[in-house]
Amino acid sequence: MKVLKFGGTSVGSAQRMKDVAKLITGNCNLVVLSAMSGTTNSLVEISDYLYKKNPDGANEIINKLAIKYYGHIDELYKTDEYKQKAKELVTSHFDKIRSFTKDLFTLFEEKVVLAQGELISTGMMNLYLHELGVKSVLLPALEFMRTDKNAEPDPLYIREKLTKLLEENPDADLYLTQGYICRNAYGEIDNLQRGGSDYTASLIGAAIKAEEIQIWTDIDGMHNNDPRVVDKTSPVRQLHFEEAAELAYFGAKILHPTCILPAKINNIPVRLLNTMQPDAPGTLISNETEKGKIKAVAAKDNITSIKIKSGRMLLATGFLRKVFEIFENYQTPIDMVTTSEVGVSVTIDNRKHLDEIVNDLKKYGTVSVDNDMVIVCVVGDLEWDNVGFEARIIQAMKDVPVRMISYGGSNYNVSLLIKASDKKRALQALSDHLFKN
Ligand code: ADP
Ligand code: ASP
Ligand code: MG
Repeated sequence: MKVLKFGGTSVGSAQRMKDVAKLITGNCNLVVLSAMSGTTNSLVEISDYLYKKNPDGANEIINKLAIKYYGHIDELYKTDEYKQKAKELVTSHFDKIRSFTKDLFTLFEEKVVLAQGELISTGMMNLYLHELGVKSVLLPALEFMRTDKNAEPDPLYIREKLTKLLEENPDADLYLTQGYICRNAYGEIDNLQRGGSDYTASLIGAAIKAEEIQIWTDIDGMHNNDPRVVDKTSPVRQLHFEEAAELAYFGAKILHPTCILPAKINNIPVRLLNTMQPDAPGTLISNETEKGKIKAVAAKDNITSIKIKSGRMLLATGFLRKVFEIFENYQTPIDMVTTSEVGVSVTIDNRKHLDEIVNDLKKYGTVSVDNDMVIVCVVGDLEWDNVGFEARIIQAMKDVPVRMISYGGSNYNVSLLIKASDKKRALQALSDHLFKN
């Protein structure tokens, strides 16, 4: 069995839903759907109004969104019977959302609101497939996708519950489920963070030991640079798991940052495919490397760098431990680290406890902070005995001020920290130097 995940744009209109239905019928696979594009953003906006105790603001967006969905229903279904069933389904979800406009609104209610997008899209697709005569079975993600007390997925629970649900429905033509949504360790509705449907797909792939995980989206695979920023990017046909994981973690939006790990651990190939161009080869992510090849560049925004300079560092064993402990105390992960004899620089993307961290670090040295930074990450088979790749990267960056450079933590990436205002020209320069034939 394969796991096929379709993102928001892939199911973003009635016509797109029909196209996806054509792609998924004929094989008994497990299909994960996101919410229709724009829906989760609207649900976030509705929640914002409700947090601010403005039910009128929320109701305006709810009503607009509902009207959009009733339009999709008219276009998607042929028969009055299915139009009616879909109307009832969509109305019940909007009633649920509206029920939160009257009362106290907390994180708990927000999670329930955010879950409605995937519940609606999968419900609609399931009805559409039934109208076509396809025996699809909807497996509720809220019955098997679960996180533990550390908000990490619980693979044993997921495998056990999902296997049981599949066994209970042996005659299905195909299985559908919701991406993104889950329950937490306390049984409450929760989610796997924005863009998390990719993660759902790979967790399911790992749980059922799928033959392949396919991520269907609106572009023909992983490009060699961010197509939203750089002109003339091109698809990379083959990536190693580690390369894909680095790119996803360092900002390639096509993949959720953590979605490669479950596939890698279980050695399940991941294929990135284009719903608008289903015959395009896309990108295959597997255990294979292409010796010595630089594959792609990605950038992670909203980075803060912190430098701690200490005259005593050289002789002081335990200096780095003390520094890292401070970040740990505030549950703030570090992305990049560079050290010298007199100091250490680190980067973080979560600024929530920045003031406290800086305050505590001052015990150990002079602290300076740079805001609005970007990590640029060059990814490929960069084993240290492959000569020359560092020189090519540095040459590309010759006109861009670089605050930190890091290599050696992995054989697959070189990271550079630059100012956000230099991001576009840095990415373009790297594309020009690294990928022009
Ligand atoms: P989906 O809704 O299907 O999950 P996303 O919007 O999350 O789709 O991801 C696809 C988008 O990722 C593309 O439209 C593209 O703009 C963006 N993207 C950013 N970096 C890359 C990259 N290196 N290769 C391909 N797409 C990328
Ligand atoms: N619908 C969710 C979001 O927009 C999850 C996803 O699409 O992956 O973030
Ligand atoms: Mg996505």
